[in-house]
Amino acid sequence: MKIKKIAAVALAAVMAASLLCGCGGSDKSAEATTAASGEATVKTVKDGVLTMATNAYFPPYEYYEGSDIVGIDAEIAKAIADKLGLKLEIQDMEFNSIITAVQSGKADMGLAGMTVTDERKQSVNFSDTYATGIQSVIVKEDSDIGKIDDLNGKKIGVQLSTTGDIYAKDDFGADNVEEYSNGNDAVLALTSGKIDAVIIDNQPAKSFVESTKGLKLLDTDYVQEDYAACLSKDNEELLDAVNGALKELKDDGTIQQILDKYIK
Ligand code: GLN
Repeated sequence: MKIKKIAAVALAAVMAASLLCGCGGSDKSAEATTAASGEATVKTVKDGVLTMATNAYFPPYEYYEGSDIVGIDAEIAKAIADKLGLKLEIQDMEFNSIITAVQSGKADMGLAGMTVTDERKQSVNFSDTYATGIQSVIVKEDSDIGKIDDLNGKKIGVQLSTTGDIYAKDDFGADNVEEYSNGNDAVLALTSGKIDAVIIDNQPAKSFVESTKGLKLLDTDYVQEDYAACLSKDNEELLDAVNGALKELKDDGTIQQILDKYIK
């Protein structure tokens, strides 16, 4: 078994006093305060709406219930928005587009069970981490794949641009890896016999195995990871505000409650 530990977010809390400017009403900017950071002003969030980019096919972190996107990330983002006095709007997109959306300002933050990686840190800021994940392997119940090494030479399905995609290509070669735009599609390909295994984070893996007949999870931890929100590098102020809110939500037990609600 091979365990790679992705570096935990070591973002020093740049809690330089955010000055509350007395320029209310001067533009469309929203002002929000968070007790943790004193008087942080989230004036870079437009119209008082905090937009979250996600890919809503990643249960229990984000998934559709009717037309609503629910799940751990949706609830954590709502709790952060509430703390900051902002409304939350969730935008569903390909996982692959989330970082670009955040970089371009189309979304204020990405929450998508996203793993903190050094490569992504070159494009976006990461908040403090709020959960952990483990890359896991789904196979058919009657599969002869019993451990990670058995994946050699097999067709492995992954979600495009996820860490599972990166590790699978590194370890088993790009030729053996099929990229799908979300976990659902990868699991469908597995059930229809197009591929031999799916590498995906452990919680969605469990959800997919529970909701799909004839699949099982390999008893192995492929890679351990930390999840965090990603934010634009141009908005340190929002990063501070989100981290301040996250700290309060961790301290008062809200984050744990949300995790416990979805992860039994
Ligand atoms: N944790 C994985 C990553 O960040 C997968 C996230 C996802 O598919 N939503 O790449």
